[in-house]
Amino acid sequence: NNEVATYLKSHRIKVTGSDVPHPVKSFEMLCKEHEFQPFVLRNLIKFGFKQPTPIQMQAIPIAVHRRDLIANAPTGSGKTLAFLLSILHQVHTEEKQGLRAVIVSPTRELATQIHEHLSNLTTGRKIKTWLMTKQTAAMQAQDPALRQKYDILVTTPLRLVHAIQNNEIDLSRVRNLVLDEADSLMDKGFVEQVDEILAACTSTNLQISLYSATMPASVEEMAKTIMKDPIRIIVGSKGA
Ligand code: ADP
Ligand code: MG
Repeated sequence: NNEVATYLKSHRIKVTGSDVPHPVKSFEMLCKEHEFQPFVLRNLIKFGFKQPTPIQMQAIPIAVHRRDLIANAPTGSGKTLAFLLSILHQVHTEEKQGLRAVIVSPTRELATQIHEHLSNLTTGRKIKTWLMTKQTAAMQAQDPALRQKYDILVTTPLRLVHAIQNNEIDLSRVRNLVLDEADSLMDKGFVEQVDEILAACTSTNLQISLYSATMPASVEEMAKTIMKDPIRIIVGSKGA
């Protein structure tokens, strides 16, 4: 419809795919229209997030509708919060259902930042988040019971594949897989790792989201082969 088209255009959001959910114009709308828990809004306010950025406006409702997503938006446009909120919509209970969401990032530094952001957003909730690095993985290995208690994992491709190959992790209940900086994950020699991670996520309910600043056509083609009817978002940079 026309009003939505104008809104998208004014925020430089291009979106393609079938049955695209409408963008959200405010974080309040996440609670009012998409059944986000009140703690999410409280923590957004607490950490100074007032208004969604364009990628957040369009990506979050798509994730809420459990659609596969290829999202491109410039560096600094708030992609992290877009996928973290998408995950928190679905992983907000304190029931111990095992690992339900995995975020894969190409470097440990980025994974650490994402995990910090996630810890802020889950303040006051008993949602267990896990930054899996070499060190934390070693601790887990000594006490396998600990592994059952995590809800959301943030890690790097090599670390995750190592854990899969050593039977240290169960990804069978993962419903949300986010590949951040997907272009470097799929371009720079991580293709095998991504395949192995996908193979370990055996749930028929798996939702895949790829986020990056840019995406070469070759990577997009590859991405489409692992997704079901994906929606594509491209947010333009200022002046582009
Ligand atoms: P990207 O991954 O797209 O490069 P980030 O997710 O790292 O960008 O976000 C860049 C900066 O913008 C971070 O400091 C983040 O806290 C901030 N940010 C994200 N979303 C919002 C928002 N809705 N309002 C204000 N600042 C935001
Ligand atoms: Mg980023």
